[in-house]
Amino acid sequence: MNKENKILNEASNNVIIKNATVVTLGADNRVLYKHSIVVENGVVTEITPDEKLHLPGEGDDFLGESGEKNTEVIDAGGKVVMPGFINAHMHFYSSFACGLTKANPSLNFQQILKNLWWRLDKKLLLEDTYYSALVAIITAIKKGTTTIIDHHASPSFSGLRGSLSQIADAVLYSGVRANLCYELSDRDGDELSNEGIEENIWFIKRVFEKTKNDPHSAEAKYLRAMFGLHASFTITTKTLEKAIGQLREVDPSSEIGFHVHTAEDISDQNVTEHLYGSRVVNRLHDLRMLGSNTICAHAIHLSDEEMELIKKTNTMVVHNPQSNMNNAVGVADVFKMIQKGILVGLGTDAMTVNMLEELRSGIWVHRITQKNPNVGFVELTEALIKNNPQIANRFWKGQKLGEISCGAQADIIIFDYNPSTELTSNNFYGHLVFGLSQAAVDTTIVAGKVLMRNKKILHLDVEEISKEAQKFSKHLWDRF
Ligand SMILES: [Zn+2]
Repeated sequence: MNKENKILNEASNNVIIKNATVVTLGADNRVLYKHSIVVENGVVTEITPDEKLHLPGEGDDFLGESGEKNTEVIDAGGKVVMPGFINAHMHFYSSFACGLTKANPSLNFQQILKNLWWRLDKKLLLEDTYYSALVAIITAIKKGTTTIIDHHASPSFSGLRGSLSQIADAVLYSGVRANLCYELSDRDGDELSNEGIEENIWFIKRVFEKTKNDPHSAEAKYLRAMFGLHASFTITTKTLEKAIGQLREVDPSSEIGFHVHTAEDISDQNVTEHLYGSRVVNRLHDLRMLGSNTICAHAIHLSDEEMELIKKTNTMVVHNPQSNMNNAVGVADVFKMIQKGILVGLGTDAMTVNMLEELRSGIWVHRITQKNPNVGFVELTEALIKNNPQIANRFWKGQKLGEISCGAQADIIIFDYNPSTELTSNNFYGHLVFGLSQAAVDTTIVAGKVLMRNKKILHLDVEEISKEAQKFSKHLWDRF
């Protein structure tokens, strides 16, 4: 299959969305009725009342570089237009687990890893990695998720090296933004552990080269990198030291952080204390792996001291409530972390790509756990619409993701939602949780390129891709 996509090179990234109910988000969230958003070269340049909009016409200077008119004008019909969502912790490769019935029943987290995920990821070949990413991204576009921070594993000699390149191809083919890493682990022996380090370093170098030397390239726009670690309990200190040593050789100014499952289950703490005489976060801190570009996913079984270390180092935490419920591993104390000033974002851990489903589940789990119907609404909503943009902006520096304002990247979605009760900036959270969450996304735009319009993905042959994905996933299941 041809992995070159014309959309990144040829499609216009000039758009005008008119007749919109614009929810700007950002530091000063406003709800603007009957407004238009003007996007030039992928960046929002104007937000104006409809009556003041100057539509491009004959003799207009709002033209493409080659001179032809290439501005797509979308009439939003009064529907809600807002920034695309960001998913701060995802595993694309999990797509091919959907419908798999062969895993043995599991009684705890360690058994879930052994009976399902560590059996599945070992069998992934490069084409599986490509298609599992592509189908997840297609669903993300349909649900209005425009930026995804992924964590990949395919530990075999035929599936590991080149896997990030496959996912990068899927990302560039589909036109969303993604931050990728490979999950280093010692669970499969020294050779594959070394390959895990090399895969991360190779991809980090690729992203560095493009972002620094070719800032207008598609890679520079859409791709970012982290160094992936599975979890403390599966990586020896020797391997972690090797990883950070090699990383700092290519990244002496510590621009790249780690993306690591952190105290997701109590067993991570128990094994780490038993083998290394340390708590998980203390261990990561001692190895200089925390910092403002590092993500600790889950962060459930933490002591106060560990939270303080996360805060002190300005490390990010990503909460994945649906996954935590599904695996029955516990409930992260996001309130305490937020109170301490830790940046807590929201991820799905591949349970869904629908960020509003994750948001709602997150609110409910904290309410039932605390037996208090008054908690979680603001914290979880802000994790999604305020904190996830802050997380993404630590990687896409200076690009203003997650808001509609002049100078922000045009990652914009239109919901099929004409508010039937009053919508203002004061009650937007309620509309998001109870109204927009029940509406379909009509249009998804990333970097000014319209990827989906009227619920139809324009640049990808979804039927053909699904057919190919079924073929590869069936072979994968046969090998499982
Ligand atoms: Zn995960």
